[in-house]
Amino acid sequence: MAITYLGGVERILTELETHHDTLDQRYRELLGDQKYTRLQEVQARVLTEESFCDNIKTVRKKTGEIIPDDAPSKLLLLTGAKFRVEPDGRIRDRKVKTSAVFYLSEQSFQHSSSSEFTDNPLVTFIHEYNHFVTYALQKVPIYVAMMYLSQARDLAPSGDINEYVQELLTSDLDPRKISQNIGLTQAVKVLDETQEKGNRILDKLILQSVGIDVPLPWRFQERQQIPVQLPTGLMVYGQGGDPYRSIRNDQDVLDKLLEWETYMAPPQGSQFMTNLLREIKRLKTSRVSFKQMRKKYKPKQ
Ligand SMILES: [Zn+2]
Repeated sequence: MAITYLGGVERILTELETHHDTLDQRYRELLGDQKYTRLQEVQARVLTEESFCDNIKTVRKKTGEIIPDDAPSKLLLLTGAKFRVEPDGRIRDRKVKTSAVFYLSEQSFQHSSSSEFTDNPLVTFIHEYNHFVTYALQKVPIYVAMMYLSQARDLAPSGDINEYVQELLTSDLDPRKISQNIGLTQAVKVLDETQEKGNRILDKLILQSVGIDVPLPWRFQERQQIPVQLPTGLMVYGQGGDPYRSIRNDQDVLDKLLEWETYMAPPQGSQFMTNLLREIKRLKTSRVSFKQMRKKYKPKQ
């Protein structure tokens, strides 16, 4: 059994019954034997019926996570980590225990971005499953890195970056902290885009094996360079377009996505960011089943 779906959404079950073997073969081809075997090991160990939520109520009951009615399909990451970061960017407790839970329902399909080009629920299932694939195979999952970077901020962004910068500039944080907060927010955005767009390229590579075309209108488009004037100097960051623009071959994008920590460099001039990013790359992430996680993880009531 390669692709694991233990939820109860009929249309996913039917689609998988038809296409399972072709898709499985495609994963093996794209990942190579070693990574494919590792994926099998991880999912056999951590995915149970409890890892799949077929409606919003179940998500809330199981995880405490409150998601709106119009939420798209999701892979939710649960962790008991405290995310403690020292003022110099170091992390003392390197062990992070995580578990992944899927939210997939007829309702979530309608609100997923794939609904713009298909009503086949296999497309949104494969998208979330691919998030699971990268979570299983990345040494430190991007999900975990993003959580650490977000939690290290003094102030979370409420709107777009310019509003956020204004909000920080008028706060009573010192200039170094203001720059640090903006740097952290940018790093989260970059990782989010790297992960989401890389995942869509993987969707395309997988789904073409069953004759489904995933449109990627942003592929090979130039990224916008946005300058932001910080109290400590000018910062320029990339946004939109294709973060994988220089990689012609889609298969090579997958390798880059799975080894993101080799490629992600800290922004220059911040010792805090340099330390934090280095520490994040050294985290020891364990992946456990929802049942094992629940022993420690207390959902918010
Ligand atoms: Zn996604």
